[in-house]
Amino acid sequence: MKWQGRRKSGNLDDRRGMSKSKMAAGGGIVVTLIVLGLQFFGGDTGKQLAPIVEQIGNSQTVQQTEQRELTAQEKEMGSFMATVLASTEDVWGEIFSENNIGQYQDPTMVLFTDAVSTGCGNASSASGPFYCPADQKLYMDLAFFDELKNRFGAKGGDFAIAYVTAHEIGHHVQTLLGTSQKVTKLQRQNRSEANRLSVALELQADFYAGVWAHYNKEYLEEGDIEEALSAANAVGDDAIQKRTQGDVQPDSFTHGTSEQRMKWFMKGYNSGDIKQGDTFAEM
Ligand SMILES: [Zn+2]
Repeated sequence: MKWQGRRKSGNLDDRRGMSKSKMAAGGGIVVTLIVLGLQFFGGDTGKQLAPIVEQIGNSQTVQQTEQRELTAQEKEMGSFMATVLASTEDVWGEIFSENNIGQYQDPTMVLFTDAVSTGCGNASSASGPFYCPADQKLYMDLAFFDELKNRFGAKGGDFAIAYVTAHEIGHHVQTLLGTSQKVTKLQRQNRSEANRLSVALELQADFYAGVWAHYNKEYLEEGDIEEALSAANAVGDDAIQKRTQGDVQPDSFTHGTSEQRMKWFMKGYNSGDIKQGDTFAEM
């Protein structure tokens, strides 16, 4: 993907290289005293003390954050991610106004290493890239992309990363349009349909990623679409189940098969028309 020199988003929150470590001496002592206090007083008194502990936790820096210098390669990746994010802002801003579906609101993208606390709870790299509707942020640990290549057997490459990012942005679009909320409600009402609805929602996010790619045609390089398809192929439920458990159980699918994921990405890419992404009707 041609990305050098293009606009970079200001909505990137780069937390890589930050690590929580070492308790600040003062904070550490205060906390220790409170903990001893709780043990000492016990019972109901302990409950009364709890808010004080929280207050102290808020007003004092108990954990220091250490920042290490990012490597040149990491900085380059940061620039790439900021460019992809900017491109999703431009494309979705345009699509929202063209289709008269309100104003697109830019989400924040958080880059992190190892662990992160989010509006949806604590997360680790093991969660893979995800979008949290509660704080409208995308959380990405870029180590996932090495895994995608090394463990999931995808081709890798910059457009594989762009596709995954655009898929998460697709969930943001679904949140802005109210689709995610509708699906969550339906899933609560009818548990037996929960997986099927999840698959439709995920395939629509793949479709939206394809629509985004359609609007980026002038920046695509040879092999880019193959990189996206290879990533979509690698993360299909059937491919993952085959690899992790040996057999395939369609009832437990949450994201769709490799074939479905590639099909919907391509449908978005070829049409560039969000109205053609009714994955719910076609399930
Ligand atoms: Zn998803």
